Amino acid sequence: MTTGTPGPRKIDTSKAHPARVYDWLLGGKDNYPVDEAVGEKLPPEAHDAARQNREFMQRAAGWLAEQGIDQFLDIGTGIPTEPNLHQIVQRILPTAKIVYTDNDPIVLAHAEALLVSRPEGVTDYIEADVRRPEEIVEHARGVLDFERPIAMSLIALMHFVPDDQDPYGIVRNLLDALPSGSYLVLSHAASDLFEEQSRKVTAEYAKGGIRLGFRTRAEVGRFFDGLDLVEPGVVTAPEWFKSTTPAPEESGIYAAVARIP
Ligand code: SAH
Repeated sequence: MTTGTPGPRKIDTSKAHPARVYDWLLGGKDNYPVDEAVGEKLPPEAHDAARQNREFMQRAAGWLAEQGIDQFLDIGTGIPTEPNLHQIVQRILPTAKIVYTDNDPIVLAHAEALLVSRPEGVTDYIEADVRRPEEIVEHARGVLDFERPIAMSLIALMHFVPDDQDPYGIVRNLLDALPSGSYLVLSHAASDLFEEQSRKVTAEYAKGGIRLGFRTRAEVGRFFDGLDLVEPGVVTAPEWFKSTTPAPEESGIYAAVARIP
């Protein structure tokens, strides 16, 4: 079953959008010349970062499904790129329910075509902004059972929420709605690993009209305050366990999974 209703907003091709720049970095086709113009100026490592980030999502989703987690709330889901989260999870737990959210209308346009659930499970999509967490939770309550554990993923999302937009308050607000035994899955661009590239990426996105707030390891760790980090804690995306590469590649992306006690 797939639910969700189309949003009213139109796709604006006059300015760059995060989901489309990310799609370009991953080699996708769902982007426009304005997005490519930003992507082309980025250091070559940005392509690796996007791929490493996506691979982390896949490993983390699979691991959570193996733990028996069958409800997912994926915020800032991005333009669908196979395998998507529900495909990984429903391969393990066909009845799993997944609510996807993004604030970019292009994601909705593609979500309709691609977010097709296995018949035993549910996929749902809502166009919403993480900066209004109550709306997301209210919608998700109609699909997911908030009395049972939910994995909430904020993957490569919170670096689009700079400090003056209350990123920690937003995440706290979302976590407060989730029951004990739920999980937070989060990845985030680092400001303190490859500092020069990080500054360059931030500057190029800014030229394209997109504000970024990359963070240090300690600042990323703050999103997990009060939660039980799953080993190995806050590490780079390729270091998050069950990596398929023999030796972890260098990466400017932090990633972690934690359980709500
Ligand atoms: N989570 C996906 C996509 C990451 S790209 C993955 O890791 O593969 C970041 C996504 O966050 C984009 O799709 C962008 O549209 C979305 N996004 C950015 N700011 C947002 C906001 N304030 N609310 C909801 N989504 C947002």
